Amino acid sequence: LRDEPFDIAVIGAGIIGCAVAFALCEAGKRVLLVDRKGMAQEASAGNAGALAFSDIVPLASPGILRKAPGWLVDPLGPLSLPPSYALAAAPWLWRFFRASTPARFRESLEAQAALMALARRETLPLLERAGLAREVVSHGALTLYESERAFAAARSEWALRDAHGIAYEHLDRAGIDARQPGLAPRFRHATYSADWHNVRDPQALAQGLGEAAIARGAAMKRAPVSRLAEHDGGVIITLGDGTTLTASTAVVAAGAWSHRLAATLGDRIPLETERGYNTTLPKGAFDLNCQLIFSEHGFVVSPLDAGIRVGGAVELAGLKRPPDYRRSRAMLEKTKAFLPGIKTGEGIEWMGFRPSLPDSLPVIGRSPKARNVIHAFGHGHLGLTQSAATAILVRDLVLGRPPSIDLTPYSPARF
Ligand SMILES: Cc1cc2nc3c(=O)[nH]c(=O)nc-3n(C[C@H](O)[C@H](O)[C@H](O)COP(=O)(O)OP(=O)(O)OC[C@H]3O[C@@H](n4cnc5c(N)ncnc54)[C@H](O)[C@@H]3O)c2cc1C
Repeated sequence: LRDEPFDIAVIGAGIIGCAVAFALCEAGKRVLLVDRKGMAQEASAGNAGALAFSDIVPLASPGILRKAPGWLVDPLGPLSLPPSYALAAAPWLWRFFRASTPARFRESLEAQAALMALARRETLPLLERAGLAREVVSHGALTLYESERAFAAARSEWALRDAHGIAYEHLDRAGIDARQPGLAPRFRHATYSADWHNVRDPQALAQGLGEAAIARGAAMKRAPVSRLAEHDGGVIITLGDGTTLTASTAVVAAGAWSHRLAATLGDRIPLETERGYNTTLPKGAFDLNCQLIFSEHGFVVSPLDAGIRVGGAVELAGLKRPPDYRRSRAMLEKTKAFLPGIKTGEGIEWMGFRPSLPDSLPVIGRSPKARNVIHAFGHGHLGLTQSAATAILVRDLVLGRPPSIDLTPYSPARF
């Protein structure tokens, strides 16, 4: 290997790559962060900012199979699959369907709960060490239900959390008003979850972690990576211009594009993107006390420093198709009905690519084809929430320490 001034190249400087780089620098490693766009310019820039530690129920579930057909009927609804992308998405959807059987769902639930317990333990301490604890606000989340039927179905999902020590409180209408005044009368039930935190600005948090890594000696290179190859006990990283870098270990944390890099090693990982949309309204648009979750409609309303962010939805339409901001507007229209006092002018629209695996679990582990490459991607709806836990697990893999949790369910070889 050439004598590079770093040991480990982390490819992708979203929230996952930045957290991994920080944890590795803390462990005394010399780190190079490589990103074609800079720090936190993709999914990690515009997400809803939730540290959703209580969100252990995988999306791939018997419940979603019941809801999805109704959702798909509305082209601007919570779930959409443009006909032109249906064939491309079919293999992923088939795996998603198989991961949603009761037995597989139980396995994913246990794995998600283990990763969340680690996230709950590690996130605030890691942010404190990075000097970023002030970026977290703890005001909980309120999940709202309109019909008795929806609430009854949700109660059994909430009960799945009991075995994992996650606290929640079911509220009637008076309880809703006490937590959040101004909601439309149609919401008759809600569940409040205190084990839920928000960050003031998800992009600033990810950039803060990247900067904290740089303050501890990491370097940042802005370049696209086109391929990886194992060589001589290390990894050769080929950049877009054909030049190469070498590292003893490479971490692939390239979000929704990671499977392309994995494929250059011969790893076939069924990553898809669940595209999500939002609109950020200016400060003062509504007096919001906590995050609101409209689970029957597939979107959330989040209080951020910049204002109120209204967003969510899932669009299975790949990495190339241009955004269809009618989706952001459809969520905003619903929000006007749900929060009648909200001011919806001057919003900024955004679309981001969630990196999603069909069983709703990320990939965290060594590449089956190249032992010096560690994959850390596919966190879907929960990348911010699981970033510190992922960073600790990757750090321990690099250091050869036993991981804090069994990594088998997140293995890149599981597909
Ligand atoms: C609408 C929406 C709301 C969300 N809300 C939440 C939430 O409230 N809480 C939560 O926990 N999660 C949430 N998420 C999910 C979360 O945003 C993602 O899981 C997370 O940001 C993924 O982080 P990442 O670092 O893996 O990917 P990204 O942030 O996408 O970063 C990947 C990086 O890799 C770089 N890259 C890719 N390919 C290459 C290459 N070949 N060479 C060099 N660089 C490359 C990209 O430039 C990018 O910077 C939400 C997502 C969306 C879309």
